[in-house]
Amino acid sequence: MQGTAADRIASTLLNLIYPSRCPVCEGPSDSYRTAPICTACFSGIERYEGPSCAVCFEPLASEHASTCGSCLKQEPPFSRIVSYGLHTGALRAAINFLKFYSTRRLARHLGNLVCEMELPRVDCIVPVPMSARGLRERGFNQTLLIGRTVSKKTGVPVEAGLLIKVRDTLPQVGLSVRERLKNLRGAFKVNEKLTGEKILLLDDVVTTATTARECSKALMKAGAGEVVVASVSRAPAR
Ligand SMILES: [Zn+2]
Ligand SMILES: [Zn+2]
Repeated sequence: MQGTAADRIASTLLNLIYPSRCPVCEGPSDSYRTAPICTACFSGIERYEGPSCAVCFEPLASEHASTCGSCLKQEPPFSRIVSYGLHTGALRAAINFLKFYSTRRLARHLGNLVCEMELPRVDCIVPVPMSARGLRERGFNQTLLIGRTVSKKTGVPVEAGLLIKVRDTLPQVGLSVRERLKNLRGAFKVNEKLTGEKILLLDDVVTTATTARECSKALMKAGAGEVVVASVSRAPAR
């Protein structure tokens, strides 16, 4: 029997929010905990341990190159980036569902992954902020949600209002490195005078590290002693 239009709309909506199939393996979503990603796919998320730049964690092709070209060309304002895994498969799906389908329960699991890394001792965790408009549209900052789990597990406080994004920017996807820089220049401001604090700047995905650079620059200019960047995933810049 055909359902009413309202039924069909409701189930379409439900399926958008809570698909019954795992987006990675297309098997059934077997656990609400990590749904829609199934338990096997989620627990199969691996840490990236291949060759990478010692500074910005950009995955590299050669075991021997320890610092990438862009870090050599221009020393970044952060001391280094640590990322859990590559931006593919279940890790990418989990981040996308958190961000674009508001599957907020995934933030805790992503935060747990961040805590599996050896994080440096820091004074506070600063999530990469969203603009006021971006925040209004999404309703939450996914990086802040991830940061709350990291804070709970490490006892390090989250300073959510310290760094703010003062203007809207275009999505970085599809822009060249030069365009990304221009797009973000002057977009971040620090609210207080800092006095040598060591900061863990947290992001969900690092791609060209332009956001990490611009945020770190603002924090260092405000008086931070050091910025270490941690991200859940790392997407190769090329
Ligand atoms: Zn799966
Ligand atoms: Zn690098």
